[in-house]
Amino acid sequence: MNAKEWNALIDRVKQYFDIRELVTRARWKARGEKAWRDFRPEALLMLVYVRERWGLPLKVNDWSLGGTMENCGLRDEPIGGATFSGHLLGCCFDLHCNDELSLYEMCLANYVQLGITEMETKSLTITVKGQWVHVSVRPTGIDSLQIIS
Ligand SMILES: [Zn+2]
Repeated sequence: MNAKEWNALIDRVKQYFDIRELVTRARWKARGEKAWRDFRPEALLMLVYVRERWGLPLKVNDWSLGGTMENCGLRDEPIGGATFSGHLLGCCFDLHCNDELSLYEMCLANYVQLGITEMETKSLTITVKGQWVHVSVRPTGIDSLQIIS
């Protein structure tokens, strides 16, 4: 992807998300707007596709808005048991909205068009209110959707 294509992609994502919603406070401080380029472009495109298909606001991180979520986009270090999480590679997001179950079903039904290669099992994500929908573009080596648990 050349610079012009990158900038066009970033402009497209900026219609819906500020970079601070996608990275940690530390990365924002260190990288500022350059942090856009710490993502895989496929991941940013997937985020746009999901947001546009969903048609309603989606939240990733909210630390910059006074919330506590900081590691739902690109992470700086492993959290818990997720030593090799795709969140460290800039290829996945944990999405929050007012109806995670419907969002999960929408992503599941449209994963090819949305460019999603991996999702977490429903039981891991949305069975508890206020949880998230994990979507990833990490290559899986298979053609069907990988459901991880
Ligand atoms: Zn996740």
